[in-house]
Amino acid sequence: MYDVIVIGSGVMGMSVARKLSEAGLHIAVIDRDVPGMHASYKAGGMLGAQNEFLEDSDLFKLATRSQKMFKTLSDELNSEVGIDIQYIESGLIKLADESNDNVTIEQQYQFLHQHNPDVELLNEDRMHQLTGGNSHLANRTAMYIPDDHQINANYYTKALFHSLKRRNIDRIFKTEVESIQSVEGGGYKVLTQDDVLIGQQVVVAGGAWSGQLLGSYIQDKCVTGVKGEVLLVEQPHLNLDTTLFTTSGCYIVPKQKDRYLIGATSYFDDYSVGVSEEGRNWLLERATKHVPGLKESKILKQWSGVRPYCTNEQPIMDEVSRDLFVITGHYRNGILLSPIIGELMSQWILNQHRPQILESFQIERRQRNALHHQW
Ligand SMILES: Cc1cc2nc3c(=O)[nH]c(=O)nc-3n(C[C@H](O)[C@H](O)[C@H](O)COP(=O)(O)OP(=O)(O)OC[C@H]3O[C@@H](n4cnc5c(N)ncnc54)[C@H](O)[C@@H]3O)c2cc1C
Repeated sequence: MYDVIVIGSGVMGMSVARKLSEAGLHIAVIDRDVPGMHASYKAGGMLGAQNEFLEDSDLFKLATRSQKMFKTLSDELNSEVGIDIQYIESGLIKLADESNDNVTIEQQYQFLHQHNPDVELLNEDRMHQLTGGNSHLANRTAMYIPDDHQINANYYTKALFHSLKRRNIDRIFKTEVESIQSVEGGGYKVLTQDDVLIGQQVVVAGGAWSGQLLGSYIQDKCVTGVKGEVLLVEQPHLNLDTTLFTTSGCYIVPKQKDRYLIGATSYFDDYSVGVSEEGRNWLLERATKHVPGLKESKILKQWSGVRPYCTNEQPIMDEVSRDLFVITGHYRNGILLSPIIGELMSQWILNQHRPQILESFQIERRQRNALHHQW
């Protein structure tokens, strides 16, 4: 019998399990695949707490708090498991893809600048300086967000995984959960293809598949998958250090050793695996429009992942039945949000009391979140 069973070993499931382990609980994390398969390992690693938001909301507050946790978390994971998650204070430039989008950037700037006076609108000279001459405004509007840094999502997820191991959390892989059934007198049976596990409390963190896992506990289709494709390219002559994020949804994230991650396409309700020719062409066309020097780059790797999406881009963090929790729908910001969600959800599970800031994320929505979802 476990105190807590967590279903799903992406960043959400592992962040909660890791925090819960500090209370000395007996915990299992179950996943139907092997580590490395899903969204958390595939992400761009941007910590876009400002880039992604147009207005104040509880999600914006959580994102801002979570972003600030990464420097310490990076040091902690490095000393605990010896993995450097490559936290880089690179900042981010948000750029209109076409001059029609200039007004969108200007409006977002008005909002962000109130919260952070260091966010600045760029002129051509400043754009040249920040991008090492690799990108130009050409009548488009851009702003610099100095605090939107980045990590390597793949190393971050691996570091969390090794941290669970060191903390003696049972990790059960290649094991699909088929159903969750309540037990008379308290707790749940978690039925897998060849076993039955009992947990006093259960957390469903199954990413884009969470709806299927919860079956009758929640409304069907309250979470779906949005496939994203990514390319990792090498270009030794570029010397670009700042992330570029355009209103088309295409972004270029400078990684270590002359590498650049170009992301990401978005296909709703698409759970397929692999990068299509159409997707690859779109990414290259968009990226080279803004950074022509990428035309000479070499594609090293390409991959896809499925982001968990809920209506209005508002995640779900809720107790759907006594001691049965769900954490899903963090869409394009799951990496960014994982430290704060791990902390708050573990407090909730331990204290049996929902932290106030999580009120907005019940399945029955109280508040519409305002995210920038034009791209
Ligand atoms: C291309 C791309 C780029 C991204 N870029 C960024 C970014 O720059 N910054 C950012 O913050 N976020 C980014 N994201 C979003 C981020 O990756 C996700 O929001 C986050 O990883 C979701 O984590 P999760 O733990 O909820 O889901 P997942 O990582 O998908 O994990 C869910 C796990 O549940 C398991 N599971 C599902 N069903 C079952 C079952 N029945 N039994 C057992 N196990 C099950 C799955 O096998 C999976 O391992 C990006 C995503 C993609 C795809």
